[in-house]
Amino acid sequence: MKFDLVIEGGCIVCMDARYTILEEHCIGIIDGRIEAIFPRGSSAYSVAKRIDASNCLVIPGMINAHSHLPMTYFRGLADDLPLHQWLQEYIWPLEAKLVNPAFVFDATLHGAAEMIQNGISCTNDMYFHMASIADACTQAGLRVVIGEALIDPMGSQPIDNKIIGSKVKELKQQYQANPLVDFSLAPHSIYTCRKATLEQCAKVAAENGFMVHMHLSESEKEVQDCIHEHGKTPVAYLQSLGMLDALTVFAHGIWVDESEMELLAKHGNSSIAVCTESNLKLISGFAPLKSYTAHGINLCLATDGVASNNNLDLLSELSLTAKLHKALNNDTGFLSARDAFSMVTINAAKALGRQQDIGSLEVGKLADIAILSVSELENLPMYNPYSHLAYATTSRSVRDMVIQGKPVMLDRKLCLVDESLIINKASEYKTMILKEIK
Ligand SMILES: [Zn+2]
Repeated sequence: MKFDLVIEGGCIVCMDARYTILEEHCIGIIDGRIEAIFPRGSSAYSVAKRIDASNCLVIPGMINAHSHLPMTYFRGLADDLPLHQWLQEYIWPLEAKLVNPAFVFDATLHGAAEMIQNGISCTNDMYFHMASIADACTQAGLRVVIGEALIDPMGSQPIDNKIIGSKVKELKQQYQANPLVDFSLAPHSIYTCRKATLEQCAKVAAENGFMVHMHLSESEKEVQDCIHEHGKTPVAYLQSLGMLDALTVFAHGIWVDESEMELLAKHGNSSIAVCTESNLKLISGFAPLKSYTAHGINLCLATDGVASNNNLDLLSELSLTAKLHKALNNDTGFLSARDAFSMVTINAAKALGRQQDIGSLEVGKLADIAILSVSELENLPMYNPYSHLAYATTSRSVRDMVIQGKPVMLDRKLCLVDESLIINKASEYKTMILKEIK
């Protein structure tokens, strides 16, 4: 057998349906896909490149279910404020002044490199200037689904219904040969989009099989406003517009009641991207994870943008979420380490409709793999890999990253981008942003 790349040894956490864990196995990769998984030393092969994963955890690359990569340069710019004040007084005015294709490219490259360092191989993003996001992620080697952010609140210029989805169609065509990039529709939220816009998004999504990515019930106020304005809860309102017929990823989903969960469960196309750290910082509330689980609704985890988090660290998100929801539910058995790890792997792959390709390490799937060194004091001894991933290991342990069968980080060094250039850019943009807010 001749492979392009073999990851040799280590403990493989497969995240397949049987939750297989394989000690001292190898993963053979050809053309970006996992061709074989076999015990170390069991067969002879030739290989162009090998990675020694002895004393490492080999896991599926993690999937971030909701992000805004181009907001990376807004990290720490305005903290300790309520959500609506934070958005209206700081984030939106700055975006209006600064955001252009070059800004989006540079900030995305920074965020993409940072995600790779944190063990993330794929992110579900939402922003403007999609081609710049696609190009920056491609340069870093990060897989991405890019949502075309649509905003047209009452009082603003309405979006021409005829153009909704046309950009997504055009870019899907343009990037057809790029296996790392895909596009979706991203009406920002109920409170920033007109009814006609949401309705058209649902229609275009259904007609073309596009995924829809939107914010849902992040604050109690937006739920009350929706009931006042439309006479329905947000999920019931979205159902009436046909949105639940599409594959949808809803970010936050905090203020969702039982009747809304029943609707989500009935349609079965929606997942919730839980953003614990962002929600805590903006005191948005606590997503009702136990009720979602009882309704069989798919849950995944997300960092949200760094402006509200302020990091892109899914392992810390995982640890905090698992602990927080045990405490909230007074139940140590809720959200086990393994269930929590599923939220950043196979559950997130399902949310994106990509479970045939990513989210677990199995023969035939794409080779999106994170290798974590676990031989340091902070990781020893290790009895249970899931326990480590949820409660012990930090992003510092992520040593190598392979995406689409290609090494994008080896020994903590990014392979496709120059980290020092990204660092320099961050300080250039800081100077420019400080001038703008004076
Ligand atoms: Zn968001």
